Amino acid sequence: MKAAFYSGQAQFKIRQINPVSLENDSVLINVAYSGICGTDIHIYHGAMDKRVHIPQVIGHEMSGIIEKTGKNVSGFKKGDKVTVRPLDWCGACAACRAGLFHICYKLNFIGIDSPGSYQESWAVKERNVHKLPETISLRNAALIEPVAVACHDIRMAGLKENDFAVVLGGGPIGLLIALILKLKKINVILSEINSFRLSLAGKLGLTIINPQEENLETSINERTKAGGADAVFEATASQTAADIMPRLLKSRGKMILVGIYSKPLQLDTSRIFLRELSLHGVRVYEEEDFTEAIMLAAQNALPFNEIITRDFKLDEINDAFTYLDNSPNAMKILLQCS
Ligand SMILES: [Zn+2]
Ligand SMILES: [Zn+2]
Repeated sequence: MKAAFYSGQAQFKIRQINPVSLENDSVLINVAYSGICGTDIHIYHGAMDKRVHIPQVIGHEMSGIIEKTGKNVSGFKKGDKVTVRPLDWCGACAACRAGLFHICYKLNFIGIDSPGSYQESWAVKERNVHKLPETISLRNAALIEPVAVACHDIRMAGLKENDFAVVLGGGPIGLLIALILKLKKINVILSEINSFRLSLAGKLGLTIINPQEENLETSINERTKAGGADAVFEATASQTAADIMPRLLKSRGKMILVGIYSKPLQLDTSRIFLRELSLHGVRVYEEEDFTEAIMLAAQNALPFNEIITRDFKLDEINDAFTYLDNSPNAMKILLQCS
């Protein structure tokens, strides 16, 4: 079978390999589609060469069909439509003992720390697999993982109907957060500077602001009529956004750190003090977030067609990454794996 190995220095090599022998607690999935995530781009650029095991198959956003089940697998059968929650945990550390398996101290992020889904068939433990309703298309289902990220971020913010939220950054995750907030009847403004992303968000019915054209702080103050928002979702991983974030919140507002920062941030701590703001780290998702994401996909509640920019074949993986690298307007790129 075919697999795409990240080989270092912005290169993937397609190789024919023998399928792995299936463990008793695992299933073999025929991978239908696999998305390219921001993390995959970081890997491609060599930023995570110390963490991945070159040459390695990466990829973790996917959909597929069960091809074979291990001896002890009881929840799945050949032909089931599935997606994978790509986190494997140790079960013994303090986080696991507290039930926080998704932030296990020894977390194995499948597709980063161990082989991923950029291949025709992928063997995964049964406990990482979620069954999909028949009505979900496999193409849309490849977006369930990023949707689960957005569901988790929103759940951690603990907002209620009619609250007011600001999302900084309209990339795939920021856009999904804003769309799902709107579904939950939370008032939301999306701030973004890329004109294509702004117009896409506007077309999808979101309220948008370009902070290069409008003063974000003044505008949020005026629109909330409460001296600021209840929560800000920071999905740009930029210092510029971190500078403005505490100034957009009302008393006891929440800063949700969605972006992944490569270096320490500077934050206006006096504003945090004056307004008793809180800062929340959010990381990946828990089982219930995947369940919610699958439900949203099953209800066709999200405009996946508008979010998927382009499909490539697995063989064209190098073209797909080059394209994404050179297309500031691209949102989600999918690889058709089998
Ligand atoms: Zn991802
Ligand atoms: Zn653990």
